[in-house]
Amino acid sequence: MNHQSSHPQPASPEESRRVAEAARETSWNKPGFLRELFLGRLRMDLLFPFPEPKGIDRPEFQAFYTQLEALLREVDADEIDRKGKIPRDVIRKLAALGAFGMKIERKYGGLGLTQSEYNQVMKLLGSRDGNITALLSAHQSIGVPQPLALFGSDAQKEKYLPRIAKGAVSAFALTEPEVGSDPAKLAATVSESEDGEAFILNGEKLWCTNGTIAELLVVMARHAEDRAISAFVVEADWPGVEIVHHSRFMGLKALENAKIRFSNVRIPKENLIWKRGQGLKLALITLNTGRLALPATTTGTAKACLQICRQWANQRVQWGQPIGRHEAVTHKIADMAAHTFAMEAISDLATAMAEKGMDIRLEAAIAKLYNTEALWLIVDDTMQIRGGRGYETADSLRGRGEPGIPVERMMRDARINQIFEGSSEIMRLFIAREAVDKHLQISGGLLDPHNSLKTRLGLLPKIAWFYLRWYPPLWLGWSHWPRYGQFRRLAPQVRYIDRTTRKLARQIFRGMLRHGPGLEKRQAFLGRIVDIGAELFAMAATVSKARKVFKEGDRNAVNLAILFCQGARRRIEANFNALWTNDDRAAYKIGRQVLDRQFTWLEQGIVNLAEEVHLHETLTGEQYQQAIENIRHSDVSLYTD
Ligand SMILES: Cc1cc2nc3c(=O)[nH]c(=O)nc-3n(C[C@H](O)[C@H](O)[C@H](O)COP(=O)(O)OP(=O)(O)OC[C@H]3O[C@@H](n4cnc5c(N)ncnc54)[C@H](O)[C@@H]3O)c2cc1C
Repeated sequence: MNHQSSHPQPASPEESRRVAEAARETSWNKPGFLRELFLGRLRMDLLFPFPEPKGIDRPEFQAFYTQLEALLREVDADEIDRKGKIPRDVIRKLAALGAFGMKIERKYGGLGLTQSEYNQVMKLLGSRDGNITALLSAHQSIGVPQPLALFGSDAQKEKYLPRIAKGAVSAFALTEPEVGSDPAKLAATVSESEDGEAFILNGEKLWCTNGTIAELLVVMARHAEDRAISAFVVEADWPGVEIVHHSRFMGLKALENAKIRFSNVRIPKENLIWKRGQGLKLALITLNTGRLALPATTTGTAKACLQICRQWANQRVQWGQPIGRHEAVTHKIADMAAHTFAMEAISDLATAMAEKGMDIRLEAAIAKLYNTEALWLIVDDTMQIRGGRGYETADSLRGRGEPGIPVERMMRDARINQIFEGSSEIMRLFIAREAVDKHLQISGGLLDPHNSLKTRLGLLPKIAWFYLRWYPPLWLGWSHWPRYGQFRRLAPQVRYIDRTTRKLARQIFRGMLRHGPGLEKRQAFLGRIVDIGAELFAMAATVSKARKVFKEGDRNAVNLAILFCQGARRRIEANFNALWTNDDRAAYKIGRQVLDRQFTWLEQGIVNLAEEVHLHETLTGEQYQQAIENIRHSDVSLYTD
């Protein structure tokens, strides 16, 4: 076997955990709604009245927004999808509008949009074209301007931000062939140049969005001497930077996504961002703050789905009446409206909370998790409601004289949202880690089997002191009438959120006692805890937003919020039940047996797909290519199971 170089040893679970913990933001200096919620404290004061967005009525913003909307109307999203390319002219027009400098301060030539304004733009983009959304979002939600705004020196900002604001496309390069969710094995390296004035970068980065057209990259790499990870601004036209592959995907067909090779690239020392060794933390904080874009773009797509379904379900007549009157379809549409309302509430709220200076680490993560998963269900329902026309391409629909409603494209474009910028599974782990953080701080030492009995006993007074004060109120709080009367018809929902917040904290505590240090491995248990927290956040955001919309004159918003909350409550109760009554153990056992090849008989009777993977694992690059060729041109199978 000769695959050592392309498949390096994986990191041990301990190493992965240590690297992730070292990069974690540990302090909580500002208030956080969800941080408190997981501790059993409902802080409705942090989100009610619903915070006002900053700036969106500004005439400068309105002018930009209107021009961008006009440009997006002109854009042929289906042609972009078909040709796999955003026309240069569209990119030039976007640059002329200032769209590449939306979040850059005005003093550097940017538009200086507030987070809420940026959020509005992301919704608009999400409703129209996934490729342009990804271009602009990767460029400034996570690309060079974001880490520079957060951590760049004045000199770096002065050098790069004006250039970016004018349209120099940027990209974020963290992922590598062997480094996806887990950064512990990051392999790109930097070493000091002989003259001591630069770093020399070597390595490969995978799936770098905008990579094929970017002028500037933020690259995470390890120092050869001590393995510490730093972040650098790298200019794409420097010697040694090579685009080795343009990756293509199921959707987002025009994504300018690259595999990039760095061979002895000389990076001047002043291009190190923030501090040496803080590169992974920088990447994670950048992703945390940049994570507000996806909740907004997905909200825009959900709104588009709602519009498509409303029109179609009124127009399409089957079995003597519009399909929207058949209950199965009407219910789908009601659910879609309720979820779209919740998604917008979550996105706007998390954004406004960030503007108010709150710590939104958890809110942004839940917004990303919740909205991307909700959108997938909405797109799926949209396809179902459009029936065969949902599955047909927009070009084909137009070709036979019908409106080119692009549900097929929307579905292909939407799926990636649950994978990139933190997959759903990783979001759940990240949120769960923070949900149990206080308990780990207080009683982690007691649960740690490495600590001696004496050490553990010594910790008891501190632990007892915390829990004696913390636990009883979780049973005693009052969440019945007349509490929360200011929410009027929504008060019962808020009372439920209050009761359930305390119940959730009690269940987390019970989980700690039951599973001890093993709790971190109980992903199913933790996932349910996170999903309950996410539903409670969604309910609180929706209720607060509904009160605002009601006051602004639309009384029906309350009914929409109630419908959403009733559904959320059913999902929450199902998750509570499954915390302690489930088939987790049996499912884990069977899953492992499948992996241990005990059910390969179930895979019989198909065209063998495992062959190619097996060959890739066992052969060198050239031998592998040759073997694949041989298989394609013969009917002999090289794969023996
Ligand atoms: C279209 C596209 C654009 C992208 N753009 C960029 C970009 O601009 N810059 C960049 O740096 N990267 C980018 N990426 C990379 C993207 O962020 C990664 O795909 C993502 O981080 C997941 O990594 P992975 O695909 O290697 O999956 P893996 O990490 O290999 O995970 C595979 C599966 O296992 C699950 N999993 C992994 N670990 C755990 C665990 N501990 N517990 C439970 N489940 C687990 C994952 O959730 C996933 O479902 C892009 C990817 C794509 C496809």
